[in-house]
Parts: sequence; structure tokens; C-alpha cells
Amino acid sequence: MSALAGCNQSYSQVQQPSPAPKLRVVTTFLPMYWFTKAVVGEEVEILIPPGTEVHDYQATPANVSAIATANVLVKNGIDFEQFLDGTIKSAQNSQLKEIDASANIKSLAGNPHVWLDPVLAKQQVANIRDGLVAANPENKAIYQANAKTYIQQLEKLDAEYKQRLQKYPNCTFISFHDAYPYLANRYQIKQVAVVEIPEDQLSPTDVQKAINAVKQYKAKAIFGEPGVDNKLLKALAQDLNLTLQPLDSLESGNLDPQHYFQAMQANLKTIEAACK
Ligand SMILES: [Zn+2]
Repeated sequence: MSALAGCNQSYSQVQQPSPAPKLRVVTTFLPMYWFTKAVVGEEVEILIPPGTEVHDYQATPANVSAIATANVLVKNGIDFEQFLDGTIKSAQNSQLKEIDASANIKSLAGNPHVWLDPVLAKQQVANIRDGLVAANPENKAIYQANAKTYIQQLEKLDAEYKQRLQKYPNCTFISFHDAYPYLANRYQIKQVAVVEIPEDQLSPTDVQKAINAVKQYKAKAIFGEPGVDNKLLKALAQDLNLTLQPLDSLESGNLDPQHYFQAMQANLKTIEAACK
């Protein structure tokens, strides 16, 4: 009994290495949140709440305090998060490490939607991993293992896109959100005639532009945003004898990093059906 007690005591006296201080990681919007969360494996923060319009986002005071106390900030870059400039200045955090997920990615005409191409998404995950390793080398093995798992899933997704879309070379579509040039480029389909959705009505110019594009390019599909019930777009599609299909730019959705794959699979189905 005494031997056991002594053993317990000496065991409890072994100096445990003090745990590494928890890194506070802040991300801007959903795809950056998913990719970062997948690499970190634990809690990270998101500045733009899912469901909030990302393109014209205005920073809140809560965003400033989040950045003021963060160790790392992960952004998409390519000028997408324009709200950050002033927010970072206001936060006055000289210790902040910024990770630009699009570093070394060649942009197409400054279009920021690189996360919709699984191959470029892989590059973004790798950039995030490398930035996190630089910020917190102690967790290098964890970040590398987590990134590897997620990158393997992206590779699988890419292979599936390639295999299923190669039957439809140059399948042409019209989009109402200029979000798909990277995806189209990767899988040899074509986005033509982006008509931005106006608040309440399409102008005659928008309608004419869409009609001309459908005729000129023999477009197969019109893609709208999921969850947006736009009667005008529906009517336009009907006039053009095309169906309006929802294509997800992944700017909203749920917080599970696996949601990326679910939404991209749904997009693949939609594109495939439209191109048939
Ligand atoms: Zn967008």
C-alpha cells in the first residue's frame, strides 16, 4: 500500500510540459473557415456570419475586437475582403500574422472565387497549412496530418469532376454571379454572359444580353443561386427555353468543413444534368 502511494506521488511530481498557448485563429468567410478549421482541427472564428452577403460586407466593432486579439487571420485575398483594410488598421494588433490563402495563385481578371476549383482549393489549404505552421511550429505535425486528409478529399473531388464532365466539352452556361471562371476553366466548360442579379428587376439590357448569349453560344443552362426564388430569372429562363438551375458559390452554408464537399457534389450533379 505504501509502495503504491509512493509510486503515485512520484508520478504526480513529474513535470508536465506546459501546454502551448492556444492560438486564436480568425477567418473571414465560409470557405476560409472550412479550410482553416479542417487544418487546425479545433475552434477557429469567422468574421462574416454565414448567410450574410459577403461581397459588400461592412465590418462591425466585434470584427475589430476579434482581430485585435487574434494571433492569425486567414483571408481569401485577391481583394475579396475589402472590409479588412480599415478593420485591421483599427485593430492595431502588431502581432497579427496574416495568411493570404491565394498566395501564388494566378488570378483570372482579379476574380476572387478560386475556392470553387478543387485544385486551387488544394493550394489554398496548403497555403493555410504553411502559414499556420510558421505561426505555431509546435503543432506542425497536427496541421500537416489534418491538411493531408482534407487535400486527399479535394483530389478525389477533382478526379470525379474530371471524369464526369469530360463528356461535355465546352458545355456553355449563363451565370448570374460571376463566380465560376476557375471551375469552368479547370473542367473545360464555359461561363458566358454573366448577368448580375439586380435587387428587384432585370433591366431590358440584362435581358437582351442573356438572350444574345444564349443564341450566340448555344448556352445549355442558366444558373441562379440556391435559395433565391427570383421570378424574373425564372421567366427569363422560360422565354429562352432553358431551365434555371441553382449553382452554389459556397458563400453561404453550414459551418461543417465537410459542407464544402456536399455542396460541390450538388454543383457537379447540377452541371452534369444541365450539360446533358
Ligand atoms: Zn461571389
